[in-house]
Amino acid sequence: MNGYKLGVLYGEGIGPEITKSTVDILKAASDKIGISFEFVELPMGWEGIEKYQSPMPQYTKDELQKCHAWIMGPHDSASYPDQYKMERNPSGELRHYFELYANVRPAKNIPGIKGVVENTDLVIFRENTEGFYSDRNMALGTGEWQVTDDIVISAGVFSRKAIERIALEAFRMVEKRRKKVTIVHKANVIKLCSGLFKRVCLEVAKDFPDVQVDDYHIDAATAHLVRHSKDFDVIVTENMFGDILSDLTGELVGSLGLAPSINTNDRQAMAQAAHGSAPDIAGQNIANPTGIIFSTVMLMEWLSARHQDLKLKETAELIEKAVFKTMDEGVKTPDLQGTASTAEFTESIMTNIGCLS
Ligand code: ATP
Ligand code: MG
Repeated sequence: MNGYKLGVLYGEGIGPEITKSTVDILKAASDKIGISFEFVELPMGWEGIEKYQSPMPQYTKDELQKCHAWIMGPHDSASYPDQYKMERNPSGELRHYFELYANVRPAKNIPGIKGVVENTDLVIFRENTEGFYSDRNMALGTGEWQVTDDIVISAGVFSRKAIERIALEAFRMVEKRRKKVTIVHKANVIKLCSGLFKRVCLEVAKDFPDVQVDDYHIDAATAHLVRHSKDFDVIVTENMFGDILSDLTGELVGSLGLAPSINTNDRQAMAQAAHGSAPDIAGQNIANPTGIIFSTVMLMEWLSARHQDLKLKETAELIEKAVFKTMDEGVKTPDLQGTASTAEFTESIMTNIGCLS
């Protein structure tokens, strides 16, 4: 097959700058490899509110349904008018609507970038539809209740179905890696919720007898990651624990600005940097686009596996090599103590795509 339809959502804060950079780089790489993409730009956030009175309009969701996959910039939902603030934020809504149950967040040292740790190569499988981020849960639809002015309740929702499918994703990934899975939970305190999470993951593990399995409480895992992150291979955990751990691991290997992720189910995938919209540096042409670029590399790999199309894998490899070359040449954005602007960094990657064979 030749020709893929990709949705593009620019978002807010640094979103438009870093998403444009990614699309330009993908166009350059796909031209070189000889594969065609149709980019479908769709409104979300402020643009959605202005055009359709919704930060995630039904129109956008309907159009995304027709795409092979999509790239989503970060949004700044805290800036939306009050009436939209209690709604699910745009990425939460897409994860919920399309049941994108797996959030895959790798952390690996990059040549030439000094991390807090060295030799780390791990990937976090974060359950994306329920857990302690209760607004995401499928079973109840909501997860927070105001009891009185001074008392609120938040629900943690855990289901066998959701735990099984994220555990299966994690264990299947192990085939391509070092054959170790770590389950992260808090079953000693949150006995029912985290207890079920641990138990179901261990049940899934029985079908993978050649995989080494261990488990950590979330607090111990956090401490252990700081000094011994190279001991971890695949981590499987619930929604909130995964969100917090992946910010830590992103920073450990260099910078949150480098951290990629994809959100997937069996049919669709969404590339999304692990960081937020960084309003403090928005519009200054200094944001590091690497997180969303590497998320797009992951998206190309996912599409390649799904459509059995090696050209997509070649596109991913070409972009990754070009980013490494650019960094190796010392072209870095200020978060990595460099002086390059977002545009200069992007230009350099595109030049390297042209030069690489
Ligand atoms: P969210 O809840 O949307 O994830 P957050 O509170 O985690 O938001 P971020 O927007 O991720 O915050 O920003 C955290 C810090 O990291 C800010 O100082 C921001 O400037 C910086 N930062 C985040 N992404 C980048 C990037 N791509 N390039 C440079 N700096 C970044
Ligand atoms: Mg964040």
